[in-house]
Amino acid sequence: MDFKNLLNRIYAEIKSSKWEDGNLPDYIPELKHINPDKFGMSLITLDGKNYGVGDFQEKFSLQSIAKVFAFTLVYKDLGGKVFERVGVEPSGNPFNSLIQLEQERGFPRNPLINAGALVVCDMIIENFDTPEKTLFDFIRKIARNSSIDYNSSVYQSEKNAGHRNRAMIHLMKSFGTIKNDTDKVLDLYFKLCSLEMNTEELSQTFLLYANEGKIYGSDERILTKSQTKRTNAIMQTCGFYDEAGEFTFRVGLPGKSGVGGGIAAVHPGKYAVATWSPLLNKKGNSVAGMKALELLTTKSGWSVF
Ligand code: GLN
Repeated sequence: MDFKNLLNRIYAEIKSSKWEDGNLPDYIPELKHINPDKFGMSLITLDGKNYGVGDFQEKFSLQSIAKVFAFTLVYKDLGGKVFERVGVEPSGNPFNSLIQLEQERGFPRNPLINAGALVVCDMIIENFDTPEKTLFDFIRKIARNSSIDYNSSVYQSEKNAGHRNRAMIHLMKSFGTIKNDTDKVLDLYFKLCSLEMNTEELSQTFLLYANEGKIYGSDERILTKSQTKRTNAIMQTCGFYDEAGEFTFRVGLPGKSGVGGGIAAVHPGKYAVATWSPLLNKKGNSVAGMKALELLTTKSGWSVF
């Protein structure tokens, strides 16, 4: 597959389109100042080829994409016991919805909606003596990059403005599904969401999910083959919230989005890909990113389906 040519064609098509229907996320003030014209895309294959176009070396806020790494850490550590605290069903609701959580007595549908990621952070605090260090060291390890960190202005901004996440964690606490101090859990969650990478670093990290659970380049196993299949299944069915069906229909790869405008996806056994474009549709997913990935699987004729 000539990915170099393919990415250049996608870049030209994205750059010549107008994305008038997208918006920046205004509920996290720090993310409102990002240049909406940015677009970067990286693709790294399991046979060692690395392609990038546009702003692929500029860091952006991973937001909900980082939930996949926190889930991976607890899944590696606790195995199937994780699912006693969080489900594997798509929510069909916005990522920060409270309605279903009340109806289902504080048990989150899956680890990729906010409520589920808060429970995952609660489990990290419960299971590790130095939760923040363990989580970030783990992410640096799977990224094979010791410089990866969170952005402290984005973290502060979310901490000051995170009213819905506060409402959600208190609702869960009232049902007994959060074990630790709510401020401690929120703090870890906001730091997780403020993680920064560029699309090249993000696709390098996501190679884990394309590589049967082994860190690409070191071959150290993080997840078993079966756990990797299941993590990818959760991304496929839940990674885009109430647009998971649309992403599967148009793109056909397991992936995860974030309100920082990023999307990461994998074709197991072949490659990992990441896009960044800040303007979001009404479901909180990057408009140009979804289009770029749709072009990738359509033009290449490769998807998991
Ligand atoms: N930090 C954001 C929040 O908690 C993450 C949401 C997202 O990226 N979809 O709302």
